[in-house]
Amino acid sequence: MTDALIGDLRAALGERGVLTSAEDRARFETGWRYGKGVARCIARPASTEEVAAVLRVAGRHGARIIAQGANTGLVAASTPDATGTMVVLSLERLNRTIDLDVHGRTVLVDGGVLLSQLNEALQPHRFWFPVDLGADPQIGGMVATNTGGTRLLKYGDVRHNLLGVEVVLGDGRVVSLLNTLRKNNTGLDAKHLFVGTTGVFGVVTRAVLAVAPLPRQRASALVGCADGAAALELLRTLEAGLGDVLSAFEVMSRNALGPVFAHQPALRRPWPELPPYSVLVEAATTLDAADLDLAALLEKFLGAHLGQADDRVTDVLMARGDEFWQMRHHISESLRGAGRMLAFDVSVPRSRLPAFTDAVAALLPAVHPAVRLCDYGHWGDGGTHLNLVWEEAAVADAAALVRELQARIYDLAVRDFAGSYSAEHGVGPHNQAFYDRYTDPQVKALCAVLGAFCDPDGRLGTVRLGERPGR
Ligand SMILES: Cc1cc2nc3c(=O)[nH]c(=O)nc-3n(C[C@H](O)[C@H](O)[C@H](O)COP(=O)(O)OP(=O)(O)OC[C@H]3O[C@@H](n4cnc5c(N)ncnc54)[C@H](O)[C@@H]3O)c2cc1C
Repeated sequence: MTDALIGDLRAALGERGVLTSAEDRARFETGWRYGKGVARCIARPASTEEVAAVLRVAGRHGARIIAQGANTGLVAASTPDATGTMVVLSLERLNRTIDLDVHGRTVLVDGGVLLSQLNEALQPHRFWFPVDLGADPQIGGMVATNTGGTRLLKYGDVRHNLLGVEVVLGDGRVVSLLNTLRKNNTGLDAKHLFVGTTGVFGVVTRAVLAVAPLPRQRASALVGCADGAAALELLRTLEAGLGDVLSAFEVMSRNALGPVFAHQPALRRPWPELPPYSVLVEAATTLDAADLDLAALLEKFLGAHLGQADDRVTDVLMARGDEFWQMRHHISESLRGAGRMLAFDVSVPRSRLPAFTDAVAALLPAVHPAVRLCDYGHWGDGGTHLNLVWEEAAVADAAALVRELQARIYDLAVRDFAGSYSAEHGVGPHNQAFYDRYTDPQVKALCAVLGAFCDPDGRLGTVRLGERPGR
């Protein structure tokens, strides 16, 4: 069946640019972890002008739009709602430009370029875009969610590495903010409006990124710790002694790591008995091994720390970096196989991570004795993925349990520990209620004003950062 909207989209984008069949729509309608809806159609523009055309056509027909990148987001913000009326604007065909300025150490890139595609193009020039994670998102999606990742400790998040953007606003106006300068203090830096705001102020069609020299060496170690305080002390010591090369500090609790070896039999258990916490420490440098033996440096440093620390640092394993990272990246799916899982992506001030984790562990038995805490995360950045797992059969009313756990844990993180209910995954329908609960009313009012300017008819996205027309 065709309708006038689809006819106009086809006129603007050609046959390849619009998908309508249920089979073609399916992969755009279901999110990676949360989010399932029905799209009226999928519009696949291949240029900024075509993105603008889609928004103008949508405006004429009163249709709402959801921008979609690689659909790897984890808060249900990239999929349409259930009404069957939204157009998914997929950026997957807007993926041709990767224009590197070697001396400026910047790259101009289309919004639909995948992170892996960008890094492949940068590699021969010995550069990389250092926002690094276990998924392969698009650059526009990374801007819209301000992706963090495992090397944030050394390189920062997308915001820290973004110099400029080009966006198409809700009514089709194009705003070019393609700054390539690292120093440019000339008033409002408007690109920040589009970073981490989930695409509700505009569709990111191009970005200018600062790229980093590709490390020539990496060295990794796995350090056993008896408790969270020992892990935190290890971090302090590493930053004081090896801060120039420290690139990742990932903490994995015994409950989080244990299921990985059942789920991935090819991975070797690092120790016969897992300690309460295993810490993945990574160092990276652009220096050649002939100038600095990084593995030897890390081993010497950790050996000395092990000698000085009391028995709360239990062991150090070196040299199996790839395997250690595989363990880290398989935690989430392994936990899913261990029962029903409820995931929290929270952060608190780094110094309070052990106390916060203890407070969560203390409250769980009172909520439901079947719930196990399986925590891991980017402790170097104050982030922790608190995954709660239980046997399906042990809980009669799972929906009520989820509601209570979310209310109690988010309150604990935000109100008692001055933390965030969304450390890195951003805002989406999955956590909209908590955005509404914890966001300052003045910030919501400001977002309403910005929304009225950027997207006057409230056409973009399923998230509400401030009051929007018709929502
Ligand atoms: C296995 C796995 C590991 C992950 N690890 C991390 C991690 O360590 N750190 C971290 O920060 N995140 C992590 N994530 C989540 C991460 O946020 C997403 O992977 C990514 O940032 C989103 O990019 P995407 O292209 O997939 O966007 P999508 O999922 O398609 O969209 C996400 C949001 O951005 C909007 N959007 C998409 N493209 C555009 C555009 N061009 N213009 C405007 N808005 C747009 C969408 O409307 C939606 O609101 C992980 C995800 C997975 C699946």
